[in-house]
Amino acid sequence: MTKKILVTGGAGFLGSHLCERLLEAGRDVLCVDNFFTGSKDNIAHLMGNPYFEVMRHDVTFPLYVEVDQIYNLACPASPVHYQHDPVQTTKTSVHGAINMLGLAKRVQARILQASTSEVYGDPEVHPQVESYWGKVNPIGIRSCYDEGKRCAETLFFDYWRQHQLQIKVVRIFNTYGPRMHPNDGRVVSNFIVQALKGEDITIYGDGQQTRSFCYVDDLVEVMIRMMDSAQDFVGPVNIGNPCEFTMLELAEQVVRLTGSKSRLIFKPLPADDPKQRQPDISLAKQVLDWEPKVDLADGLKETITYFSTRLKVA
Ligand code: NAD
Ligand code: UDP
Ligand code: UDP
Repeated sequence: MTKKILVTGGAGFLGSHLCERLLEAGRDVLCVDNFFTGSKDNIAHLMGNPYFEVMRHDVTFPLYVEVDQIYNLACPASPVHYQHDPVQTTKTSVHGAINMLGLAKRVQARILQASTSEVYGDPEVHPQVESYWGKVNPIGIRSCYDEGKRCAETLFFDYWRQHQLQIKVVRIFNTYGPRMHPNDGRVVSNFIVQALKGEDITIYGDGQQTRSFCYVDDLVEVMIRMMDSAQDFVGPVNIGNPCEFTMLELAEQVVRLTGSKSRLIFKPLPADDPKQRQPDISLAKQVLDWEPKVDLADGLKETITYFSTRLKVA
């Protein structure tokens, strides 16, 4: 029998790539999304597939469906979007997790949580290992997202201990690629859109803060590997690309690849902005036999092509 897979947040950036890959692997996919940050454009190319179904639904409300696996991705991911309605962000992470765990419990489905590197906050341990508990401000402007995701992890582990649910928790580090929202304020989309339009490239702070970016195809591959891994491996496991660079280096790379004449300008650093971030992916390498394949220049080229086409249409 074809496995029925629920993807919450399936019309978003990562979710739409995940739905596509699951369909290619012969799975039957139900995409649930409230279209807050996701869009029908992201999944339009899947609509003709008889094994693909879309349901408009907000995961903060109960959901009664019959499925074998659940990928729980529903949650705005960019700071601009998750800070737009912070209360709803926490509700989505926490009530959404409770509802999806309740659903998984009733139908005995395996459930994977898309957690985040933000559970480490502004980390004092570098690179970040899964055993590090993080340094998170509980009352700041990023807290709705960081603490919401931390609470969701707690719920996953309690449902596992208390109800023997089959859980999987991945901590996703910054990911980029086609179908990122052009106005979501994230650094890769901002820099590329600015460079293509010939606008100033906005570097926050002095640009010396670091991130490590993973191309979306690599990330989707390891999410599926994690879901299908041995039952006793529940995580949390870091997934991302350990190749670290400063935001200034990223801006220079984008300018070079687009051949843009944009100037680099400096703007104030937002509150609680982590100074450095790099995943230690030893665990994913060892247990899931995975490491990212796409390097930054190749991934950026794909993303630039996507945004060039999108900007021409718009
Ligand atoms: P995205 O904003 O593109 O996708 C999120 C999707 O969830 C959207 O389609 C949105 O409409 C939907 N959604 C939001 N609230 C919902 C609700 N209450 N009910 C139903 N649907 C809802 O973001 P993304 O980058 O694709 O991120 C997907 C997941 O991965 C998120 O959970 C995010 O926290 C996690 N993540 C992403 C990154 C990254 O770099 N992209 C890093 C770490 C973690
Ligand atoms: N739930 C859901 N779909 C289901 C089963 C449960 O959305 O198929 C929701 C339901 O709203 C419930 C939550 O999941 O409040 C948690 O379920 P659980 O069985 O853990 O707790 P309880 O129903 O006892 O509150
Ligand atoms: N950033 C930047 N210019 C922008 C957008 C973001 O310099 O136009 C910086 C931001 O301050 C942060 C880094 O780039 O230090 C990554 O930001 P993003 O919002 O993409 O992800 P996150 O902070 O959640 O890792």
